[in-house]
Amino acid sequence: MRHPFEIGSTSVAGGQRGRADVPVMTLLNGSELNLSIHVIHGRDDGPTVCLLSTLHGGEWFSIEALRRITGMLDPEGLRGTVLVIPVANPLAFGLGTRDTPGNSDSPDMNRAFGGRHTWSTDQLANAVAANAIDRSDCLLDFHMGPWGSAFQDVLIGADFPDAVAEKTERLAIAFGSPVIRRADIVKGFPGPRSSIGYAGGVRGIPAMGVEVGGAGFSPRLEETWWDATVNGVLAVLGAMDMIDDAPDTRPARQLIYRTSHRVNPRNGGFLRSRFGGEHLGDHVSAGTLLGEVLSPYSNEVIEELRAPADGLLFYVARDYPVEPGGWAYGLASVADGARWIERSGSEEER
Ligand SMILES: [Zn+2]
Repeated sequence: MRHPFEIGSTSVAGGQRGRADVPVMTLLNGSELNLSIHVIHGRDDGPTVCLLSTLHGGEWFSIEALRRITGMLDPEGLRGTVLVIPVANPLAFGLGTRDTPGNSDSPDMNRAFGGRHTWSTDQLANAVAANAIDRSDCLLDFHMGPWGSAFQDVLIGADFPDAVAEKTERLAIAFGSPVIRRADIVKGFPGPRSSIGYAGGVRGIPAMGVEVGGAGFSPRLEETWWDATVNGVLAVLGAMDMIDDAPDTRPARQLIYRTSHRVNPRNGGFLRSRFGGEHLGDHVSAGTLLGEVLSPYSNEVIEELRAPADGLLFYVARDYPVEPGGWAYGLASVADGARWIERSGSEEER
């Protein structure tokens, strides 16, 4: 029999599931802040995988997918352990904001890993690291845009140590996203203090940022994104030999790209979108009109958003109010070092 998984004051036996409320700090209002961590502790030995959601409080769409996965995994048939943190930043989630509210100089929890200060965000990130990431062999961290924007992308580190980068890419392909972004995330964006920068660059484990879907679209469409997330996680667990009969929902071909173009407005206004949620993954050519920004004051069109290059849309938005720089469209370049991975196993360099 496996050793039990000890976390906080909770002990979960092999072949069982459990949940720990790990105490993190006392808040100024006197309440105690806990981090809720689900543990699915397989009956047999194997790797540990951490599933992390809602580091950014406004990005709560993946909570439902993780709820389904948590209920679906059978610890009797699992080799290894799955740790699920549905709400990594309860302070930001509680107020519906991306960052932790308050006067901290460290408000962004996805830039707080390895923090040396005692700001609430740093303490939360350190609690996630100590209780979950540092005990795991692989991290999947779920993000998306705010309400009204939708993503379809997996982010992996080109600058992870070679063996880690290679394994991460293999697992990202197994996840089945049509587009995978391979970027210098430790040296570049989002940096070594992001969750995956920390996991891949500092801890040396495979780590990917998963962005599938978003809130504010039709229930039918949102359901397909939850399905894709659930199947993707199961496929990763299958690729790590933790479960049998994992689904393989990879598309016929997947793009691994190096260069992305954000097409976000320079001006605030009301976005009238020509490429909403059903157009995620569409191939558009340079110059295509993606959407327009209307002034809600004068009703005039104040900006046109056009594709600057050929590419696949890896994020889109519905009609909604946008701030300057707010999420509208993202293009994954099909040139500039991009590669197509064919399901049949062949590769094509661009
Ligand atoms: Zn995020």
